[in-house]
Amino acid sequence: MRVLVAGGAGLIGSAMCARLLDRGDSVLCVDNYVTGRAANLDGLLGRRAMTFIEADVCRDIALPPGAGLDAVINLACPASPVDFDRLGLEIMEAGSRGVANLLDVARSHGARFLQASTSEVYGDPESHPQAETYWGNVNPVGPRSVYDEAKRFGEALTMAHHRRFGTEVRIARIFNTYGPRMRLDDGRVVSNFVVQALQGRPITIYGDGSQTRSFCYVDDEVGGLIALLESDFTGPVNVGDDRERTVRDMAETVLELTGSESEIVYVDLPVDDPTRRRPDLTLARRVLGWQPSTSLEDGLKLTIGWFRAQLPA
Ligand code: UDP
Repeated sequence: MRVLVAGGAGLIGSAMCARLLDRGDSVLCVDNYVTGRAANLDGLLGRRAMTFIEADVCRDIALPPGAGLDAVINLACPASPVDFDRLGLEIMEAGSRGVANLLDVARSHGARFLQASTSEVYGDPESHPQAETYWGNVNPVGPRSVYDEAKRFGEALTMAHHRRFGTEVRIARIFNTYGPRMRLDDGRVVSNFVVQALQGRPITIYGDGSQTRSFCYVDDEVGGLIALLESDFTGPVNVGDDRERTVRDMAETVLELTGSESEIVYVDLPVDDPTRRRPDLTLARRVLGWQPSTSLEDGLKLTIGWFRAQLPA
């Protein structure tokens, strides 16, 4: 396949490019480095089947002449809660103009389109675990709304495009994903705890740490996204790991695996921080024949090893 990967220099995007190249696909990677990093593409840029275009998906993307495309995978959007304030307007633009542009690219090439959506469309869920049939509980004006509503809009736009033009579309609702190549200052719980533990600084638990998330290792996530792209299923599908943990448990696991003696400190819980989150993977297992396989401990060991190599000794 010839695949355009938008947001290809991010955490999931760079792992996606590597996986596609390894199996013999050609990749056209697009990123504007707003949160992606050139270093994430080390070892990929020199490969014959890899082309990189530095571009903002919200503007015109100058594709190479005659670039035939079989698929467009849209992973382009800042996604860490620390970006919601700093990049709120950019996030809303990526979810609207960016998605519309990439849908047009897919349509003009007769390519299949995969939209990366998110568990955040469920907001602070009143239904647990979250199945795709649940419509969510989102505060439309709170600090997370820029991301939640942009992603909800992106889903609506994707489906409208499919209905109007018959474009083949796929929608993945991605749950908390972690792994090597996260930004050191990404601000999310895994990168914060691992970097804090390795530097011997206090581990910052927001609130009392009883809130839950279900963490998916990046290589599992990429496998699920590719299975969805290649499936025949048009509606949204949860793609994540359904092994749920409290944030406090995550802190203790990171301390144990790093051997760190960092203390744990408790600080204010951010506004509208979801209380619990776990994907119902029934649909993914049935229509994709896929499920995650990497344990949190194994995934964290690989992630810790990577962060250790990034930090000054
Ligand atoms: N969190 C925390 N300490 C941190 C960063 C995050 O306790 O240093 C908590 C955060 O409040 C949330 C959970 O960890 O309950 C996951 O946060 P993250 O930003 O990774 O992702 P989210 O699921 O909120 O998008």
